[in-house]
Amino acid sequence: MKLFNSLTRTKEEFKPMDPNDVKMYSCGPTVYNYFHIGNARPFIVFDVLRRYMEYRGYKVKFVQNFTDIDDKVINKANEEGVTYKDIAEKYIEEYFVDAKGLGIHPATIHPKATENIDAIIEIVSTLIEKGYAYESEGDVYFRALKFKGYGKLSKQPLEDLVAGARISVGEKKEDATDFALWKAAKPGEPSWDSPWGKGRPGWHIECSAMANRYLGKTIDIHSGGVDLTFPHHENEIAQSEAANGCQFANYWLHNAFLNIDNKKMSKSLGNFFTVRDAAGVYGYEAIRFFMLSAHYRSPINYSQESLMQAKAALERLRNAENNMEFLAKNGSEDALTPAQSELLAGFDKYREKFINAMDDDINTADAIAAIFELVRDVNTALSDNGSRAFAADCLARVRELCDVLGLIEKQEEASLDSEIEEMIEKRQAARKERNFAEADRIRDELAAKGIILEDTPQGVKWHRA
Ligand code: AMP
Ligand code: ZN
Repeated sequence: MKLFNSLTRTKEEFKPMDPNDVKMYSCGPTVYNYFHIGNARPFIVFDVLRRYMEYRGYKVKFVQNFTDIDDKVINKANEEGVTYKDIAEKYIEEYFVDAKGLGIHPATIHPKATENIDAIIEIVSTLIEKGYAYESEGDVYFRALKFKGYGKLSKQPLEDLVAGARISVGEKKEDATDFALWKAAKPGEPSWDSPWGKGRPGWHIECSAMANRYLGKTIDIHSGGVDLTFPHHENEIAQSEAANGCQFANYWLHNAFLNIDNKKMSKSLGNFFTVRDAAGVYGYEAIRFFMLSAHYRSPINYSQESLMQAKAALERLRNAENNMEFLAKNGSEDALTPAQSELLAGFDKYREKFINAMDDDINTADAIAAIFELVRDVNTALSDNGSRAFAADCLARVRELCDVLGLIEKQEEASLDSEIEEMIEKRQAARKERNFAEADRIRDELAAKGIILEDTPQGVKWHRA
């Protein structure tokens, strides 16, 4: 399996330190609002990377943090007249609601910055001891230029970094390129005790501290959106490597932007849609499908049209799956014929195609194409061969691949499906009793829910309109 490593700017064969304990860290959300579609991109694509590694037999320990203290969380709390903790807790809960809807598996560990203040203080103390950091009036800063290799991830020449750096109001640094590890408490702000007085951690240091605590000094994969490359990830590298004296992450993965009208979707630009709102219009699964329909390193544009296309493609997939499920239950009981077995063996090529695409730096766009090719062939084959055994084998093949991408797997759909099936049974019973008015009423009620019925020799089939 090859991954594009931002550190070396090349696609490299993925060689984890221990295949039974792959260590992966992804920068999680700052929890002061519902997350938007742009934020959803890293959450979804790196969930797929993790699922794919598991599919290929690796055991993965995946850590994704919550930044639950920073200026934005504090400002929101002040606006609403509540504590920072109220805001953080609320939006962590809301994160899990949307993440579940989007089919994002919970990480192995979701640590919070404020629950790791001790680990943060420890690494800051080490950096001071080693001369990489210094205290200044209750703040602590990192001497960026002292770290040999500063700029190695973002490939920025040091002269540019120096020219671009400014000291903001209130900062007490030796050099404009230095960055804050610890910030002295301002009146009325939440704060924690530290050797440098009351204060709170800077953003970059929390990831170094938590990656170290939960995964160790060197991790296999570190991921996040491309906007985090500089300064966030560059600073994480400087902090971790200066403190630990060894490589921080072997592979750095960055997703490209999700744009809207060709501009990055972001809270600060105000051009964002929350996942919650978009899911209300298109459904969570369409958002996931849309996100995976492009390679994670290509920018994608969010539009009504692209979401409607995703929804329609997903519907085709779901209808094909329903058809397979129906025949797997209601088809003939004939054993597989040699010709059918041969046909099924021929379908192996789609699994290979899928794996080749995913092995090539997680090319989900081509992986989805392989699933659709499989579905096309399955649909053709099932129109002449409706046996249970054959349909069940086809279904297992489609499910295997869809599960890696987290497509068509929602439990809510399943409970909805059983509700629909119950109504269909009631309609059948009404027809048996020649109560056609009732049977028609049920058909109309289902139609209003977008469920279309089709009477076939094997029974009633249904699909979504
Ligand atoms: P934040 O909550 O702003 O720290 O962002 C959480 C994650 O979303 C980070 O990995 C960001 O890089 C990523 N992100 C934010 N906006 C976008 C966007 N428009 N497209 C892709 N990724 C984004
Ligand atoms: Zn981070």
